[in-house]
Amino acid sequence: MAAVVGLLPCCSFGPYCRKSFCLRTSLVGSLVRRDSLRSNGSTAVYDVVVSGGGMVGTAMAAALGHDVHLSDKKILLLEAGPKKVANQLPKSYSNRVSAITPGSATLLGSFGAWDHICNMRVKPFRRMQVWDACSEAMIIFDKDNLEDMGYIVENDVILSALTKQLEAVSDQVEVLYRSRAVGYTWSLPYQTSDSSPWIHIDLADGHKLQTKLLIGADGQNSMVRKAAGIQNMQYRYEQSAVVATLHLSEATDNNVAWQRFLPSGPIALLPLSDTVSSLVWSTSHEHASQLQNMEEERFIDSINSAFWSNANHSDFIDTAGSMFRSAVSLLMPSGTAARQLPPSVAKVDPKSRAVFPLGLGHATEYVQHRVALIGDAAHRVHPLAGQGVNMGFGDIACLSHHLSAAAFNGRDLGSLKHLLQYEEERQRHNLSLMAAIDMLKRLYSTSMAPLVLLRTWGLQATNAVPPVKEQIMAFATLEPIQTGRTLTTTTEATH
Ligand SMILES: Cc1cc2nc3c(=O)[nH]c(=O)nc-3n(C[C@H](O)[C@H](O)[C@H](O)COP(=O)(O)OP(=O)(O)OC[C@H]3O[C@@H](n4cnc5c(N)ncnc54)[C@H](O)[C@@H]3O)c2cc1C
Repeated sequence: MAAVVGLLPCCSFGPYCRKSFCLRTSLVGSLVRRDSLRSNGSTAVYDVVVSGGGMVGTAMAAALGHDVHLSDKKILLLEAGPKKVANQLPKSYSNRVSAITPGSATLLGSFGAWDHICNMRVKPFRRMQVWDACSEAMIIFDKDNLEDMGYIVENDVILSALTKQLEAVSDQVEVLYRSRAVGYTWSLPYQTSDSSPWIHIDLADGHKLQTKLLIGADGQNSMVRKAAGIQNMQYRYEQSAVVATLHLSEATDNNVAWQRFLPSGPIALLPLSDTVSSLVWSTSHEHASQLQNMEEERFIDSINSAFWSNANHSDFIDTAGSMFRSAVSLLMPSGTAARQLPPSVAKVDPKSRAVFPLGLGHATEYVQHRVALIGDAAHRVHPLAGQGVNMGFGDIACLSHHLSAAAFNGRDLGSLKHLLQYEEERQRHNLSLMAAIDMLKRLYSTSMAPLVLLRTWGLQATNAVPPVKEQIMAFATLEPIQTGRTLTTTTEATH
């Protein structure tokens, strides 16, 4: 029986379908003839296939490979691109970096990758100063005992460390580089007994695979998400981020992450060493393109002026803000930390400037029968809070916990029962974080006086109340270990 999945009147999940109506016909990524994928004894069957070997997919595969409860499972990581492992660290810093939370560092440490990162290159930061370009309002995050608040790590270093840890479990996890999945098909539950119930995967080179659980870690344009018929709510910010590697005018401890909200978008300076920092400047597409192409001296002047200039201040807001700040400092004298001045920039690494369009995206469902989405395939956020990959690492902590428990209890890894628990936990967390990030982005995208006044007072009040700041820090910095629980057997255990 030949069926073209993309043209089925409803999706192939049949009784497993979670939708009251099906969008599969319009959203399916590629039309694949299921009969051509029928198991013929020669197609390899995996327990788990992770599709997409970016930072999130590679970390997922490494986490599963190091889990003792999954040691008898056959796991595969598929990556369309080449293997990226640096035998020798390049002298110059990469322009793609991530702020990594202590919670994410703990997750990466749980399977040995954090040690590799520390042996390569990482810069801890102990303070975050965030301030408004339209007023004197600012907020400072730090810890009493000057503990690390987070770490700035090059994405290549993270990927390299994860790849090394994958190699350590190569008998457990197979990895196929330069292998693009071009079609995913699900068998119909009511099909004849000769067909396999697993997900069939077609690779671009003609190879075919089957899996009992497909984890989509294939980024913001996820083909897994499209093939599963999962809707994605998305929004383009009409902004791009300009990134670059910058050299400071003088050496300092450089342990502060700086971010200033300009009406056109936030600009951030993230420390990489005593003298080098990374720029992430979100602005209109047009301005981003100008910044990318302008000559070096003008580019550096633009950065310094974006951090230092008071051109967006107004007397009215400054007066109202300073009156409010005086009142708050009388009520909460211990809660007003001193403002520091950001370092000035002297040089930009040649060819380090690059531009990335920004948007928001959220999958309405993270799971289907035998499918789970993680990382940017499930959610995409503005980089202003440095949370994108940290949310992905949070997904891994949660999903690997549920899969480990399912394996321990002898359950089918692809069953919706525990996948739905993953979805519920992660959507609850991710949606509130995404809403907060989106609200910040919108609140700071204007220089209208009433809104500037409102956010000035809000920021000053938040800065003055340590318990509120601690709550914000705890929520934003510890997320991947929130779901860590001990495994327990259940009455359904089969071994
Ligand atoms: C300017 C900027 C700054 C940022 N800063 C931070 C920060 O400070 N902190 C933070 O937490 N986040 C940050 N982020 C977000 C972070 O970079 C992303 O959330 C993260 O890279 C997503 O990783 P991922 O593995 O989910 O997806 P991706 O990195 O997109 O990886 C997807 C992978 O899947 C592979 N793939 C795709 N399709 C297929 C297929 N069909 N078959 C096989 N393989 C496939 C691709 O080759 C790719 O390797 C930033 C983002 C930007 C743009």
